[in-house]
Amino acid sequence: MGVDCRVWIFPKERGFRPSAEQIAFLANGLREGGWVPRPEAAGQKSQVSELLPGKSAEEKKLAQVQEFDSEPFTPGWVEFHSQHELVMEWHVQNQREAGVQYPFVFDPYPDSGPPYFYIRLILGHEYFYWTGENVMPFDEASTKCVCQEQLSYWTGWAHGVGSQRIHRACPRCGRGFDPSGRACEVLDGWTGVSTQLIGGLTFCFALVVDCHKYFPSDEEVGRRFHLRAEFLDLWRTFIEVPYEQVFTFD
Ligand SMILES: [Zn+2]
Repeated sequence: MGVDCRVWIFPKERGFRPSAEQIAFLANGLREGGWVPRPEAAGQKSQVSELLPGKSAEEKKLAQVQEFDSEPFTPGWVEFHSQHELVMEWHVQNQREAGVQYPFVFDPYPDSGPPYFYIRLILGHEYFYWTGENVMPFDEASTKCVCQEQLSYWTGWAHGVGSQRIHRACPRCGRGFDPSGRACEVLDGWTGVSTQLIGGLTFCFALVVDCHKYFPSDEEVGRRFHLRAEFLDLWRTFIEVPYEQVFTFD
């Protein structure tokens, strides 16, 4: 098993992209609920990255990076910054100093904490397509358009979001593509047992809790390591649509 644990929450219907208003309200809900730090808080480093189309698959994606403003998020702000891809990232380096809630049901290392983690909102117009140590890629044929054009591609690398994408509309014939019916294999992080994930780890919008290395190393404890219901309620309140939740270990 890998060393970095991330929890991905994203719509079951892979093509679903929330409105700018839903995203602004979710971000405000995260902040007002004390799940993400305020910009002036200690023990954190947070930023907004407006990613730009990558020049090549090998390079880091160009990005306009800025600090968060202390004003509430507005739909207009989200709209303006999400012309290509938007990553809102709150890096809580010290949960106590940052004055935020811990999103998991318990602290796996109460003697060595306080916990650190990242919370990210990721939004784009194409499908983000994550594969890794425990998320296998689709078959090559699964991401082909009916005209045989391969719709999955590599774009420039960006921190925390990966560099694979799938076109929503075929660049050759213009047909729309939805990976919701395709399946990939996901391996259990502890036992390696394989299950099918219909739709794969693909999304146009995701809420991610990245534990980095701060997660239980023991299987029995790890099985109980879940996100708190109050945290997941934010998705239900603001995004509303049914979601998938996938743990990755890379
Ligand atoms: Zn096509």
